[in-house]
Amino acid sequence: MSRRPRAGVLLEALRTTARADPRGVTLAATLQLLGAAAGVAVVLASRLALGAVLDQDASAAALVPGLALLAVATAVSGAAGALQGQQQRVLGERVAQRVWRRLLEACASVELVRYESTAFVTRLERVTSNALTRPTAVATGALGSLGGVLGVVAMSVALLAIEPVLVPLLLLAGLPAVLVARRASRAEFAFATEATPGLRRRTYLRMLVSHRAFVTETRSFDAAPEILGRLAGEDAAHLARLRRQVGVRQRLNLLAAGASALGLAAALAVIVWLVDVGRIGLADAGAAAVAARLLAGQLSGVVRSLTGLVESAPFLRDLEDFLATCPPASPPGTPRELRTGLAVRDVTFTYENAGRPALDGVSIEVPAGAVVALVGENGSGKTTLAKIVSGLFAPSSGAVSWDGDALGMAELRASVSVVFQDFVRYQMTALDNIALSDTSAPPDRARAGDVAGRVGLDEALRRLPTGLDTPLGRELAEGSDLSGGQWQRIALARALYRDRDLVVLDEPSAALDPRAEHELFADVRRMLEGRAALLISHRWSSVRLADHIYVLDGGRVIEHGTHEDLVERGGRYAELYALQSAAYLGRPLGQTGSDH
Ligand code: ADP
Repeated sequence: MSRRPRAGVLLEALRTTARADPRGVTLAATLQLLGAAAGVAVVLASRLALGAVLDQDASAAALVPGLALLAVATAVSGAAGALQGQQQRVLGERVAQRVWRRLLEACASVELVRYESTAFVTRLERVTSNALTRPTAVATGALGSLGGVLGVVAMSVALLAIEPVLVPLLLLAGLPAVLVARRASRAEFAFATEATPGLRRRTYLRMLVSHRAFVTETRSFDAAPEILGRLAGEDAAHLARLRRQVGVRQRLNLLAAGASALGLAAALAVIVWLVDVGRIGLADAGAAAVAARLLAGQLSGVVRSLTGLVESAPFLRDLEDFLATCPPASPPGTPRELRTGLAVRDVTFTYENAGRPALDGVSIEVPAGAVVALVGENGSGKTTLAKIVSGLFAPSSGAVSWDGDALGMAELRASVSVVFQDFVRYQMTALDNIALSDTSAPPDRARAGDVAGRVGLDEALRRLPTGLDTPLGRELAEGSDLSGGQWQRIALARALYRDRDLVVLDEPSAALDPRAEHELFADVRRMLEGRAALLISHRWSSVRLADHIYVLDGGRVIEHGTHEDLVERGGRYAELYALQSAAYLGRPLGQTGSDH
C-alpha cells in the first residue's frame, strides 16, 4: 500500500463527493448552515425565556417572544436535520455510482491474466464490497463534519458571549473521541482484510445450495447438509471475528462517551461555580447550560462524522491503490484482414505462482483460410495457447505475428473472434446474445438471422415466442431457456456474427450431440465461409478434418501434421486416436491402426 497521507485520501473523497453531485452538496451545506443558525437561536431563545421567567415583575406576555423563538428554532433545527438525512441518501447513491463506474472501468481494462490470481480476485472483492458502502459513508461523513464544525463554531461564539471559560473546556472534552476514531479506523480495516477470504468462501457455499447453476448437482448428491455444515463452520468463525471486533469498538466507544460526559459534567460544574461566585446571573447560567449541552452534542456529531470519514480512509486508499494498479483503458485495436496467416513463434507462458510454464517454446502456424486443430490431454496448454492467439494473455516470451507483423494484444483481440468452452449464456434476448460480439454498430437482425441459420438455429428460433427478441435464460426474467447444445450454437453464432478472418474455437462442440456435431463440423468450412480457424477439440470426427494438427503435451508441441501423417507416424496422436476409435468401434486396442 502506498504511503499517501490520510488527508490526501480524504480530500480526494471530498472531491469525489462534490463532483458526483455539486447541487446536492450545495443544498446539504445550506441545510447544515440553517441547522447551525437554528442551534444558536435555541440558545438565544433560552436566554430570553429564562430572563423573563426570572424577572419577578414581568407579565406572562413577556414570556412569549423567548418561547416563540424557542419553538421556531427547535422546529427549524429538527426540519434541517430530517431533510438532510433524506438528501444524503441521494447524494450517497450518486457517489456510489461514480465510484462503481471507476471501479468497473478498471475491471474492464485490467489485464485478463490477473483474474487467474486468487490474491487479485480476493482484493478485487474486498474493494468491490467496500466500494458499495464506503463512498456513501464518506459523503455523509464529509457533510456531517462540515455541518458539525459550523455548529461548533456558532455555538462557541454564543457561549463565548456568555462565558468564555466554558469554550476550551468543552472543546478539550471532544479530543479523546477524535483520537479514538483514529484507532477505530485501523481496527476496522484490519478486520475487513482478515474477514474477506472467509466471506468469499461463505458466498460460494451459499451459492452451491441456492444458485440455479449448482442446485441440480448438489441436490442429486444430497450434498446440501454437508455444504450447510461447512457453511456453519464458516459462519461461526465469522461470528467469533465479528464479536471480537464489536468488543474492541464498544470499548473504544465507551471511552469516547465517558470522556465527553466528563467534559460536559465539568462544564456544568463550572457554571454552578460561576453562579456561586456571582460572576453570571441565573438566566445566563441557564442559557450557558443549554449551550454547553448543545455544543457537546455538536462535538459528538463532528466526531461521529469524522469517525465515518477517518474509518473509511484506509478503504478509500485501498480503492485508490487498486485503481492505480489498473492501467487506463487502452483504445480498442483495429481489426485486420488475414492475408497470409498467423504464426505463433517460440511462445512461453507461465501463470503467476505456477511452478512450471503452461506453454514452453510453442510455435504454430494458421494459414489464412485453413482449419488448424490443437489436440492434447487435459492440462497440455491448449486453452492457454488459444488465449494468447486471441490477444487475451500476453506471452512471457516469444511473439504472435499476423501476416508477418508482430501484433499487440488489442489489435489481436480486434482481429480474432472466439468461442470458449465456458462461453457465457447472456441473460438477454436471442438477438443480444448473438450481436454482442460486434457492438461497433446497432444489432443487425438480418446478419444475426443468417449466422443463426448457419449454425442450425433456424428451427429453435422459430419456436421461440418472439423469435430473436425472446429473452433467453431464467436468471433475470422468465425467459425461454435453451438446451446446452442450443446455447452452444448461440455461442457459435455469436462468434460468426463478429465477422473476422480468424476464429478460435475452444471445444465448440462439447455440448452438441453427435448428429449436431457431424452436421456442423463435417462441413465446418461451409460454416466458416473461408475464415481460418484454430480448433481445440477432443472429438476426432472434427479434428481429422483439419488441414493441419498440432499435438501438445506438457506445454510443448510434440508432433504436427495432417491426420494421415500423424496416424502413420504412430506417435502420441495415433495412440490417442486409437484409444477413441477403439471405444467407438468396440474393438480391442491394436486393431485400429488403419481405421482412419
Ligand atoms: P488445456 O486447455 O490443454 O486443458 P490449459 O491451457 O487450461 O490446458 O492449462 C495448461 C496448464 O496451465 C495446466 O497445467 C494447468 O494446470 C495450468 N493452469 C491453467 N490455469 C492456471 C492458473 N490460473 N494458474 C496456474 N496454473 C494454471
